[in-house]
Amino acid sequence: MLRIAIQAKGRLNEESIALLAEAGITVEEGKRKLLTRSQDFDIEVLYLRDDDIPQAVAMGVADLGIVGLNEVQEKEQPVEIVHSLGFGKCRLSIALPKEQNYTSPRFLEGKRVATSYPVILKNFLDKEKVSAEIHEIAGSVEIAPLVGMADAIFDIVSSGATLITNGLREVETVLASEAVLIATPSLSEEKKRSLDQLMFRFEAVERSRGMKYVLMNLPDEKIAEATAILPGMKSPTLLPLAMKGWSSLHVVINEKVLWQKIEQLKAIGAEDILVLSLEKMIL
Ligand code: ATP
Ligand code: MG
Repeated sequence: MLRIAIQAKGRLNEESIALLAEAGITVEEGKRKLLTRSQDFDIEVLYLRDDDIPQAVAMGVADLGIVGLNEVQEKEQPVEIVHSLGFGKCRLSIALPKEQNYTSPRFLEGKRVATSYPVILKNFLDKEKVSAEIHEIAGSVEIAPLVGMADAIFDIVSSGATLITNGLREVETVLASEAVLIATPSLSEEKKRSLDQLMFRFEAVERSRGMKYVLMNLPDEKIAEATAILPGMKSPTLLPLAMKGWSSLHVVINEKVLWQKIEQLKAIGAEDILVLSLEKMIL
């Protein structure tokens, strides 16, 4: 049986549970303990603070974990990054009081930088051959310059709104992060097989993200034109309608181009267009 560690509460918790649920792994919400067993897949879910997940996976206390890449890099534990999961996106950046003139990391030479990510910051400064004083603080990093504790900060940014509120300006992105699936490096053959099974499910869920299943009725003589509007797809499915000379055309379309394609299809005579959501795509 596999054991997967996910964040007990916080920004990654809901989406981790949702991803597992979409992959057919449900845990009873009400009965959530530190460790719960899924009814429908041979897996146990261990709820931890995100800081503890890399170590739990490195030690083999959990075989797998879902955690931010930022935590994986900060903790420097020997874990394998199996897959990027596409949620929990943020970046780790250097920010300065907005009036400061920044041109390169050299600006930080001899300065004090406040952060909750001292390891990633140190690695970055070493790479840039800059020596700065790293002040590790656990929270509210963004107020450090205001209260005179630091000259710059190195912190998580998503929208940047918090920085602006505190009179700071993002000047350097050091790491683009998102939630990743990590694994103990030496999984047994049996566990590897279970991981493959899990990855197969995750990929089916991911593939369907942002995709819509579209059905429409179309005069037969317009089929070639319609197919040309839908490039990059395998040939669409066609079913004859009871009404002679008409067909039903079924395609999968990316949401990003959905309206554009529908307008083009409508313009050549497509009717009764239905757009359905798609749950899984297995190729
Ligand atoms: P825990 O109690 O588990 O230690 P935490 O307070 O350390 O939780 P959260 O704030 O819940 O952590 O964030 C978890 C992860 O979510 C971060 O490590 C990061 O990978 C990601 N994340 C995405 N957007 C943001 C954001 N705007 N601010 C902070 N973290 C973000
Ligand atoms: Mg944490």
